[in-house]
Amino acid sequence: MNHGLKTVSLPEAQGIILDAVTPLGPESISIFRAVKRLLHQDIVADAMIPPLESSARDGYAVLARGTAGAAPDKPVRLEIVGEIQAGGSPQGLAVTPGKAVRIMTGAPLPTGADAVVQFEDTREADGWVELLREAAPFENYRQRGENIKTGEKVLLKGDRLNAADVGILASLNHETVRVYRRPRVAIISTGDELAAVGEELEFGKVRDVNAYALCAEARKCNAEPEHLGIARDSLPQVRELLGRALEADVILSTGGGSMGKYDFVKDAYADLGVEMRFGRVRVKPGKPCSFGTMGGKLFFSLPGNPVSALTCFIEFVRPALLALMGARKLYKPVVSAVLDEAIGKKPSKNLRLLRGRFSLRDGEFHVATTGDQKSSIFKSLRDANCLIIIPANSGRMPAGQKVRVQLIAHEEIEGPAGF
Ligand code: AMP
Ligand code: MG
Repeated sequence: MNHGLKTVSLPEAQGIILDAVTPLGPESISIFRAVKRLLHQDIVADAMIPPLESSARDGYAVLARGTAGAAPDKPVRLEIVGEIQAGGSPQGLAVTPGKAVRIMTGAPLPTGADAVVQFEDTREADGWVELLREAAPFENYRQRGENIKTGEKVLLKGDRLNAADVGILASLNHETVRVYRRPRVAIISTGDELAAVGEELEFGKVRDVNAYALCAEARKCNAEPEHLGIARDSLPQVRELLGRALEADVILSTGGGSMGKYDFVKDAYADLGVEMRFGRVRVKPGKPCSFGTMGGKLFFSLPGNPVSALTCFIEFVRPALLALMGARKLYKPVVSAVLDEAIGKKPSKNLRLLRGRFSLRDGEFHVATTGDQKSSIFKSLRDANCLIIIPANSGRMPAGQKVRVQLIAHEEIEGPAGF
């Protein structure tokens, strides 16, 4: 059935999807599990890190001006008046001209000390140390708060936490952290011809590749996928599986979304009351991709061909999942690259995305396709680290021409999609 839905360009589709997203609520999780999650709170430091002036080396805490002129053939001799370990206390110890305190990395500095001379530049004997070089003021000296100052906004709502961020949370004594909830993604495959992995492959059947590949993609962006199974090409079956998908925040179906006689997905969405926002996209692969919403839930009908389904995931679903998780960085970077091979296709009214591999030569991006670009050839996507963007209506492109490529293996950056 033709639902009279509009056909949109790729950037229009991305815009429509993003407009439909309301970020999910927060949950509190242990910082042990927080990497890659998106912060739902600003983190404001309530302490100085480090909390005290401390030594950046194992050596001797000294007064820099008392070390003037020290050299291997003219050492400056200082009396050692004590020792401070990491975690130890400087109580009762003071450095004055002519005195030094033996100190370990991370130990609090004693009163008066303004520099540390590392062991390698000293000789020690009988309670005295000989400095073999001068110390500069504040050498090997960690200032209180030099890492983080009280009141500083160290992490912002919407930041995706990396390992260093988790370290910062630990340094500020956050056992747990508030992050955006992960979207639950229900995945439904459709097709009479599909066999799940493990099932016997009868004549004419193909493996349900999409369920597994899309679950993997969803996991990659930290969503919680669940495969609900295969619906055969009948409206009641598609409806039935969709009914079970409504617990999820995002519903992905693959196949059965075009104009074929047995394509029931759009009918099933319509029956359910999903408000369809677009019915097709002028992009290849990925044309039979439609999108709708119902009560804050997002519904995608993705193409059946695995390459098309994954391409649509990359362009449409992934940014939506990231936006649901409160991310500010939604799109992969697009850069300019030199074509290493001619691309000879007849002009098309669709934008085309060819699977490519870029490399860097002499400081410039170069790109070639990964071979046969038929959307049924999965290998072409496996080998790809970018998509070559061929604008609508462009004809043959000779080798050496500049094209734009989307770096799909790179993490998202701030700013628009760049198509
Ligand atoms: P459709 O969009 O249902 O017409 O499917 C288009 C093509 O994709 C057909 O060749 C299907 O066999 C294939 N296909 C559909 N769903 C899947 C799937 N889950 N895994 C692998 N191939 C599929
Ligand atoms: Mg089908």
